[in-house]
Amino acid sequence: MEDTSYNPFMMAQKQFDNAAELLELDPATRDLLRVPLREYQFSIPVRMDDGQVKIFRGFRVQHNDARGPGKGGIRFHPQETINTVRALSMWMTWKCAVVDIPLGGAKGGIICDPHNLSLLEQEKLCRGWIRQLAKNVGPLSDVPAPDVMTNSQHMLWMLDEYETIHGGKYPGFITGKPVGMGGSLGRTEATGYGVMITVREAMKELEIDLQKTTASFQGFGNVSQHAIELYQQMGGTPVCVSCWIQKEQKAYSFFKKDGFDLKQLLAITNHFGEIDKAKAQDLGFELLPGDAWLEQDVDLLVPAALENQITGESVNKISQQVKIIAEGANGPTTPEADLVIKERGIHVIPDFLANAGGVTCSYFEQVQSNQNYYWAKEETLGKLDQKMTTAYLDVSNFATKNKLYMRDAAYMISVDRVAKACKARGWV
Ligand code: GLU
Repeated sequence: MEDTSYNPFMMAQKQFDNAAELLELDPATRDLLRVPLREYQFSIPVRMDDGQVKIFRGFRVQHNDARGPGKGGIRFHPQETINTVRALSMWMTWKCAVVDIPLGGAKGGIICDPHNLSLLEQEKLCRGWIRQLAKNVGPLSDVPAPDVMTNSQHMLWMLDEYETIHGGKYPGFITGKPVGMGGSLGRTEATGYGVMITVREAMKELEIDLQKTTASFQGFGNVSQHAIELYQQMGGTPVCVSCWIQKEQKAYSFFKKDGFDLKQLLAITNHFGEIDKAKAQDLGFELLPGDAWLEQDVDLLVPAALENQITGESVNKISQQVKIIAEGANGPTTPEADLVIKERGIHVIPDFLANAGGVTCSYFEQVQSNQNYYWAKEETLGKLDQKMTTAYLDVSNFATKNKLYMRDAAYMISVDRVAKACKARGWV
């Protein structure tokens, strides 16, 4: 059911072309960075619980590794396509560059819906993905991690398969591992917390009192849940959150005018981030259509679900009250919508900056795994705060100094860092 009208890779290329123009990049560097260095597409046969063999399609795309080994998650999604993975791998390159960690960009995926797979089938799928790629990924070449619908258990199965094939222990091969099995404390919280660290800095800069703000979130997965957690801890008031209800194949928004309590909501949510509608209504939530999260009169919008959510059509539904959009998801805003947001002067914290906390903590995890020495949670989260704050200020100072839109500023800094690395290596 691929949506052929929307191609995320073309969108990522369009964003890159714009940055290349602004930076006046030479033609060879443009040609190099416009497309991935390498890509793998393969079949994964899995014997299902009913005895039948089912063939799944898997991907890994390595966009650029001039600054260090490729880095990026693996998504399980029924609508996964090679073009989505290509786009996401490119965004990973810019993400690692904007937070200035010594890693490149990669991404992987499997076309599947884990809602319909038993744990044993999921384990076989994870091991099958590694078997197809065991020679092309590794701690010194390409380091996978969790993403949409994958978690620490999936990472551990993948690590185990990799170590079985290569005969040894390679805890730095993959990140997002369970704590106690090579994982880092704080990794689960890192992406969502990172989003809110950038929001905190943006509000300071715009002289907005965070404690007087309200916010609306799209999605209720790992990123959104932890973004809401830190936002609430800092004194903000979340009023709306949307989530996907698998059984109905549609999304709903859950709204509470005076703000909701995250813990209450988590108590009625399953591990896929699906909120129980009836129980939410009992708790006083108003049930609204899936896209209503975007229309609320709030100060802060956090799209934290999938790509292609704020489009040329839906962008006009954004309330005049909205001052900041922090993109927790990768690629939630299409270029058409972006033009409107830019004109309206809404302060955007672009995806690869806002959600870089996950990969930053993955980098810390890799460092800990390679040293075989693990840090306290406070130490990890403290380092995360430093990295995210520095990255945010780098981008916003550059934007202010050069009168640039935040997305353009972030692109210029990242693409420039990667282009310089390619040049220094003599590739272009
Ligand atoms: N999947 C996350 C992202 O899109 C994290 C990637 C990683 O930790 O390597 O940034």
